[in-house]
Amino acid sequence: MKVLYVSNEVAPFAKVGGLADVAGSLPQAVARRGVDIRVVMPLHRSCPAIEQCSVPLPCLSVQTPYRALVASVLQSTLPGSDVPVYFIKYDPFFDRPDPYGEGGTDYPDSPQRYAFFARAALALDHALGFRANVIHANDWPTGLLPTFQRLNPHGRPTVFTIHNLGYQGSFPLTVARDIDIDPTSPAMPLVQLGARINYMAAAIRSASVISTVSERYATEIQSSGSGHGIDDLLRDRAGDLHGILNGIDRDDWDPSDAPRLPAAFSADDLDGKARCKAELQRLVGLDVNPRIPLAVAVSRLVHQKGLDVLAEVLPRAVGRPMQFALLGTGDEKLERLYRALAQANPGRVAVSIAYDEDLARLHYAGADIFLMPSRYEPCGLSQLIAMACGTVPVVHSTGGLADTVSEAPPDQTGFVCHYLTPQDLLSAITRAVQAYETPDRWRPLMVRAMRQDHSWTKSAREYVALYEQARRKHAGG
Ligand code: ADP
Repeated sequence: MKVLYVSNEVAPFAKVGGLADVAGSLPQAVARRGVDIRVVMPLHRSCPAIEQCSVPLPCLSVQTPYRALVASVLQSTLPGSDVPVYFIKYDPFFDRPDPYGEGGTDYPDSPQRYAFFARAALALDHALGFRANVIHANDWPTGLLPTFQRLNPHGRPTVFTIHNLGYQGSFPLTVARDIDIDPTSPAMPLVQLGARINYMAAAIRSASVISTVSERYATEIQSSGSGHGIDDLLRDRAGDLHGILNGIDRDDWDPSDAPRLPAAFSADDLDGKARCKAELQRLVGLDVNPRIPLAVAVSRLVHQKGLDVLAEVLPRAVGRPMQFALLGTGDEKLERLYRALAQANPGRVAVSIAYDEDLARLHYAGADIFLMPSRYEPCGLSQLIAMACGTVPVVHSTGGLADTVSEAPPDQTGFVCHYLTPQDLLSAITRAVQAYETPDRWRPLMVRAMRQDHSWTKSAREYVALYEQARRKHAGG
């Protein structure tokens, strides 16, 4: 089996959120199952320089019905593996400060950038003579790939994974000509949604099979309340829509083998966690106190993550003994709100407005409690990383958070708020703090959270089965 895995973000080369973590780790787990899987991404500014790569294709001609652009292809591997990663180098589109856009808005030429990326990935497959049996596309930037394959008489089976339905790549109809799709062509009914072009809708209609990143989210997105306006398209494809839970790279997040942490620790020996906590408190300017429970959030600051609801209850939450540290960037209003909370609660609330992977590691390792009150959450990796570090999550019961965190004894791994209201969230945080105050309860809870198996082993097997299903479906017409 040969799979071309296509993503706009791949850790560690370019990362905005969890998609990058998945694209950097799932292909390795799939390769361990004997699949020849190769990753394709754009050469964003944060990717390796040409001197650090080989150049298998100095010239790659990317054709549309109306023009040809010439890119080049650099090659490296996913760190710690021999899974090849191909970077499409086309600087006019991808040599930019951020993979998507700036200030939370897509670059104005995003439709062209990602139509080009989809065509370039297919051109690369052809030029290398790889001829993948299955093309695995991820999220809206790759949404046109399944459509191009479906319309091609020699097209291959496609798997399309929805990592977040809230971002669809929706643009005015007039972009059809900019992306070289003739409004009278058979592609048009696949890419058009009402008076818009919608890349996510195109993929949902065209892919051989569709997956999303938890079973709960697969169900939720078929309802009008959580379907972001395209639940009807998903219901039409219900028989081909599968939920496969994301994993994390356990080696990458293992606190017992963490040169970047002040001290190592494990479920059998938790002593080092206290050193991580003291270092986190010192570094972000909280009172250094081993006894006070320390809650953290590491997050993109966007409406989805529910941090506005948390801000409402935070003054009351830190009124009883609790500290809070936030690491995140994004929406300027949320940044201002949290800066003000830190100013009003010195020593109790600390806010780092930054994207910083080492600081994120210290938050996961040094904290006692991880707060994740997302309005919706397709899977969520942060709560899995937190659990691996013995940091007990408090979550809203939605999507992957509902599938991975339970408050029910005897398998309790965290605290769950069922309705995202300030009262329910405060009550869940209070339950966590009360449990923290009873070490006989807290320690087993931490250890249970740490021992959960969120490796890729099971999910990688499910993806390989999905690739086989895509091939059968494609062969059957
Ligand atoms: P999403 O993909 O919606 O952002 P996930 O929980 O699936 O949410 O994944 C988020 C990933 O991004 C995690 O690896 C998390 O540690 C990382 N992350 C989020 N914000 C920051 C930040 N400010 N600095 C470093 N890493 C961050």
